[in-house]
Formats: sequence, structure tokens, C-alpha cells
Amino acid sequence: MAERQSISRYDLDRDALAALLSGQPRYRLEQVWDGLYGLGKDPAELTNLPKALRGQLDELAPRALRVAAERQADRGDTIKTLWELHDGRLVESVLMHYPGRTTVCVSTQAGCAMACGFCATGQAGFERHLSVGEIVEQVIAARRSAQSSNRRLSNVVFMGMGEPLANYDRLWEAIRRLHIDVGLSARHLTVSTVGIVPGIRRMATEAEPVNLAVSLHAADDTLRDALVPINRRYPLRELIAACEEYLEAKGRRLSFEWALIDGVNDRNIDAERLASIALRLRAHVNLIPLNATPGYPTTGTPPQRVAAFRDRLEDLGANATVRKNRGNDIDAACGQLAARAHAQPQTQVTAVPAPLRRG
Ligand code: SAH
Repeated sequence: MAERQSISRYDLDRDALAALLSGQPRYRLEQVWDGLYGLGKDPAELTNLPKALRGQLDELAPRALRVAAERQADRGDTIKTLWELHDGRLVESVLMHYPGRTTVCVSTQAGCAMACGFCATGQAGFERHLSVGEIVEQVIAARRSAQSSNRRLSNVVFMGMGEPLANYDRLWEAIRRLHIDVGLSARHLTVSTVGIVPGIRRMATEAEPVNLAVSLHAADDTLRDALVPINRRYPLRELIAACEEYLEAKGRRLSFEWALIDGVNDRNIDAERLASIALRLRAHVNLIPLNATPGYPTTGTPPQRVAAFRDRLEDLGANATVRKNRGNDIDAACGQLAARAHAQPQTQVTAVPAPLRRG
């Protein structure tokens, strides 16, 4: 076994792992790779390896993530984990059990540079990109957690902290490993983007047909410029064209995220503009009332008007659902991740039973 500087276990590619295993029989590489990815085990648990090797691997290929805090809501069906990275940065992932599926929402960056004013991560600013290993390990950890409650992790959404397409190469290597090595179908992986047009175009050329979700929030440039600043660089016309390209290339259903903000993007005219884009792209609209965050004083649209907005979209022929708002009580809901993590990391495990919320 070669002595190397330690690099996190899911950051090693096959060549790097092979180099680490030099001096071992050749079949060890597949044993370890399959143990890490296929089985999602720690080296220490790989009983088909010699004991000394297990210990060495644990040391030379350590974990990237350390649990800093874990909180539960929705009677244990929503579990938020705050992870500490090797340099002390904090990111979060949220595991959600639904009747027919189990989904983990993972982070792709510490912080975010997109500066959407209503989003807690956007308010905090950019810290750094996550590595391939830091992204993959969030999924492996979620799969283990799901297994411990007799559930099977079925879906991954890249909708946690950060802008996935601003960290494209690492994101895509992580997607490849999840698809090929972990065995999650690309059709069960969803990349959510603020609308980075070159990234969407690149996605259209990839082999893995993942789902594309676009955080639209406004269907005219004036409003979108204000809510989602990257719109000034990639205005709606270009964004819609890139979505069309993706649809054509992959045939996967697109979805639009729309955080309903009281009096801002919940007017009749907003529904009409949104419906016309959604119809053109055959996209599904996910409505979610805005979650209040410390740096944005406006609140979410009240439930009755959320329902009316959805009805209006449906009347216009667009498909729309009001998304169940998981983990609100534990700051695990959209845009709230790590809202308070930096201020006061929580160290105890708390169960906060809360009814499922619907807009
Ligand atoms: N940067 C990516 C993924 C992370 S954000 C993106 O923009 O899609 C995940 C989703 O949460 C996005 O749809 C984002 O717009 C939404 N979101 C952010 N802050 C929110 C808030 N305060 N209330 C409701 N949704 C929010």
C-alpha cells in the first residue's frame, strides 16, 4: 500500500485509488470501489479485505464530511444534516421520506454567488465549490441513513446550497459516479439551476439524461432581473431557448420552481406569463410559498392565494402543484438551508414533530 497524502475517499478516482492500492493484488481495486460505491460501506466494514488494509484505507482515504448537527421534522420523515468539511466550512443536506420514494437534497457549493435576495444562501455569499467527493458522500450518507429506517434512497435533487451549474465539472463527475457506480438511475437525479444558460446547453450534450429544474420565479425580465440577478446576464429569451434545446435533446420533463412572494410574483399577469412559457416547454410548475429568511422582509403568498394561483395556471392549461413544504420548522426548507448554521451550529439531535405543510 502506497503512502500518500490523505484525500477524501469519494474524491479518489479509480486511478488514484489504484495508486493507493499499489502492492495489493489487482482485484482489490474493484473490491474497494464496489465496497465504497455499490455497497456504500466504510473501508473498516469491508470484511473481504485484510484487516490491516481496512485500517490503512480508513486513514489514507478519510471521510470528507463530519456530522456537525442533525435535526428531524415531519415525524422523522425529514432529516436535515449539517456537515462540517475539512476546512471548517458548513453545508447541509436534507433527506425526505415520502410514501413512494425517498429523496435527498444535496449541496454543491458552500455558499452561493448568485445573490438571489430572497434566498438565505444567496444572502450569505460564496465560500467555495464542493469537491466531487463532498457531493457524492452526502448521497452515500443519505443512503445509509435511509437504509437504517428500512427505506431505499431513490432520488437525488441538486437543490441544496449553491448553484450546481456554477460548479459544473465536479457536479457532472459526481452525477456520473452516482449513475454508474452507485446505481441511481439518471432519471432519478434532478439538477436545479437559477438559469446558467451555458451550463444548460452543456447538460444537453451529456450522456446522462437527468431532470432539469429551473428556478424561474418571474416570467418577465424586469421582475426576474430584480429577483434573480443572473437574469441580467442570461435573460428569459435565452433561458427559454436553452430549455427548449434540453427538452429536444433529452426528452425529459422540465420543471419550473416558483417561490410565491406576496404581492410580487403572484398576480394574475404573472400566472398568465408563466403559463405561456410552461405550455410552450411542456414544463411542470412547482409552486412553493416563499419561506421567510433573515435578509428578505417580504413574506410568502398566503395559502388561499397560492391555491388560486395554481387554479389559474391550470385553467390556462399548465400543470402545477403546490409543493409540500418539508422541514420548515428546522430551517430545512428551500432557501433556508444554513440560515443560522454559521451563527449557531446546533449540536443536539432534536425531533420536532410537525404536520406536513401544504401551501
Ligand atoms: N441554485 C439552485 C439550487 C439551489 S436553490 C437554484 O437556484 O435552483 C433551491 C430552490 O430553492 C430554488 O428554486 C430557489 O429559488 C428556492 N428558494 C431559495 N430561497 C427560497 C425561499 N426563501 N423560499 C422558497 N424557495 C426558495
